[in-house]
Amino acid sequence: MARHLLGIEDLSPEQIVGYLDAAERWFEFNRSGDRKASVLRGKTIINLFYEASTRTRTSFEAAGKRLSADVINVSSSGSSVTKGETLRDTARNLQAMRPDVIVLRHQVSGAPHYLARHLHCSIVNAGDGLHEHPTQGLLDAFTIRRMKGKIAGLTVAVIGDVQHSRVARSDAHLLRKLGAHVRFCAPWTLMPKGAEALGVEVVTNLDAALEGADVVIMLRIQRERLVDAMLPSTREYSRTFGLSQRTLARAKKDAIVMHPGPMNRGVEIDDAVADGIQSAVLDQVEAGVAVRMAVLESVAAG
Ligand code: ASP
Repeated sequence: MARHLLGIEDLSPEQIVGYLDAAERWFEFNRSGDRKASVLRGKTIINLFYEASTRTRTSFEAAGKRLSADVINVSSSGSSVTKGETLRDTARNLQAMRPDVIVLRHQVSGAPHYLARHLHCSIVNAGDGLHEHPTQGLLDAFTIRRMKGKIAGLTVAVIGDVQHSRVARSDAHLLRKLGAHVRFCAPWTLMPKGAEALGVEVVTNLDAALEGADVVIMLRIQRERLVDAMLPSTREYSRTFGLSQRTLARAKKDAIVMHPGPMNRGVEIDDAVADGIQSAVLDQVEAGVAVRMAVLESVAAG
């Protein structure tokens, strides 16, 4: 078992399936009446979040608590980070309190790898800059496998602000490793250079991206990372790249629609689709807790 989870890129298909299978057991457990297991009793988890988060932070907290760990949440606002303390100093001080796992979200790509090199405890990447968001990749794969019964052979369209999306990168690594065909779709200004190197098909037209898709993953326009010149107007973007019931009709009839959240309703996705019968958005959130239980259990044991 691996001691850290830093990204999907370094995982083997067997390791990925191992996490998904373990998450399957926790998923059923979470649906049962008693949602408390003792596997991490006596362990301490620190959630260290330098960027805003609702789903990921809450979900890691719920996961840790359901496994009986002591969970401590530290966010950059309200901590000494606002006084200018470096990541290294903050992390070394937290390490002196002897946690077993630090779950890190940070705006700099590679920050979790840096901590993994310098600290003794396990590190879980909860999203690093534009790089990876491995637990989101795992929960997306879990949701697809559960709803479609398989991943190999499916066509998955990932549409929106691919350039700034760590979710797109983790999804692409993971879904390709498990045999899916992945399409990235974005305006040229929001498509990372050399995206093809990830083994994905690159398109800049929404209809072409949706054609025959089994799964449609919509991405948020990441305004906090965007330079104005990258995007026309929001209206123009939503007209050309927004998912509506009309445009969704290009995908397979039984296609599912996913979004990592938070959604910009009326920009990348219409209300009717976000809340429609093809939407798996809340299924993703439910899967997230189970996946994070599997990850915490595994790294704490490793
Ligand atoms: N919540 C996801 C992330 O942190 C996606 C997003 O923010 O758009 O990467």
